[in-house]
Amino acid sequence: MSLKFYNTLTRKKENFIPINKEEVRMYSCGPTVYYYAHLGNLRAYVFTDILCRTIRYSGLKLKQIMNITDFGHLTSDADSGEDKMTKGLLREGKELTLKNMRELAEFYTERFKEDLQALNIKIPNEMYFASDYIKEDVELIKKLEGKGYTYKTSDGIYFDTSKISDYGILWGGKRDWDEKGARVTENSEKKDPKDFTLWKFEDKIGYSSPWGQGFPGWHIECSAMGIKFLGEQFDIHTGGVDHIAVHHTNEIAQSEAATGKKPFVKFWMHNEHVGIEGAKMAKSDGNFLRLSSITDRGINPLTYRFWLLMANYRTKINFVWEALEGAETALKRLYGLYLALGNEHGHIHKEYQNKFKEYLEDDLDTPRALVLLWDVIKDKNMSAGDKKATILDFDKVLGLGFENLQKEKIPEEIKKLAEEREEARKEKDFKKSDELRKEINSLGYEVKDTSAGQKISKI
Ligand code: AMP
Ligand code: ZN
Repeated sequence: MSLKFYNTLTRKKENFIPINKEEVRMYSCGPTVYYYAHLGNLRAYVFTDILCRTIRYSGLKLKQIMNITDFGHLTSDADSGEDKMTKGLLREGKELTLKNMRELAEFYTERFKEDLQALNIKIPNEMYFASDYIKEDVELIKKLEGKGYTYKTSDGIYFDTSKISDYGILWGGKRDWDEKGARVTENSEKKDPKDFTLWKFEDKIGYSSPWGQGFPGWHIECSAMGIKFLGEQFDIHTGGVDHIAVHHTNEIAQSEAATGKKPFVKFWMHNEHVGIEGAKMAKSDGNFLRLSSITDRGINPLTYRFWLLMANYRTKINFVWEALEGAETALKRLYGLYLALGNEHGHIHKEYQNKFKEYLEDDLDTPRALVLLWDVIKDKNMSAGDKKATILDFDKVLGLGFENLQKEKIPEEIKKLAEEREEARKEKDFKKSDELRKEINSLGYEVKDTSAGQKISKI
């Protein structure tokens, strides 16, 4: 095993060695569930899925946590604008209550999970709603307060970034914070525009706290949940590049200030954006496409996964329908060539497997891994069985659904005949069941009776 990942913290590719050899610990920033996920968001989770699968393929155990942001994420990352969940409730004409907020969150979380499933993304075992961990947020803020890192203004409790000597380390410390108007605070009581909310007062709706009713800031939820489930220091933290400047920068500042331990996270890994017509795809700008935009056109959702894997996760990509259609043609061809391999069994080709591992372990080089997949399919010296075994092995990471292909390809007509045959057998009408078997055979399929029931396959 020689995993190498690009670490945003050091701005270079580094050998990945887990802190605890027994298990890699990883935190992935989850979605803000005030609306459907868009294609850009889903890239963040295809990337995380490939990362998780690669770690496991390398023989390591992995504990992955994902939060669901269901409060406190303002429309601008820099603490200004409207709360996104509030915006969601207003959009749907619902009254502003905590119960409605939770219902809204649960609805869009289910839609999010459906998207993940359609993209063959393994749903993390541990996915938690941020609003279930308010107590942990409060405790963390109290700790920061006790150590003198906070101050109060009329609208909330703030983190004093001037107390941190290496604030902005994820940016290489070079960032000019005022260069973008967006970073300039709307709250004139803030000591510095970089200071960020830990607790936001809100008298109409919110949770109680030692400082008054309101909501935890968005950044504190990820620090509190990361520390709770993974410890004060862990291996990997993922998110999109938009999280680097503010959200992850602030997570580092507050976590390290609270625990006194550096680094909070060893590897910070970020996926680049998916753009649309040259602009960033963003829920808040209304400039986005959803996975259903693809499936509504009759395109298999895995085509989107396949298209994403054609670029490295750190490459900015622009969504255009022509490119997706090109990917659709290529994926269908791959499926066709795979199905033509028949039912022969074989062995994984070790040399190809080693190369595949080498590419994936090199900062998730999926474009090269896909080229290798084509090489296997086209290799004239390999048996069909060995090709199948090797492709299925690659698919443990690529997740393009080769395994399910055969099952899906059984025509409805054959399935119906097989069901009738099963019925006939149950009724001990062996003459009829035999006739049905022959009919199925004449259509190019065969049925085998196994302990798990009938198995249909192409002859
Ligand atoms: P959100 O639901 O806004 O909290 O974002 C969920 C994930 O999607 C985060 O990791 C973001 O960094 C990521 N993300 C947001 N927009 C894009 C985009 N256009 N392309 C790729 N990732 C994105
Ligand atoms: Zn986060």
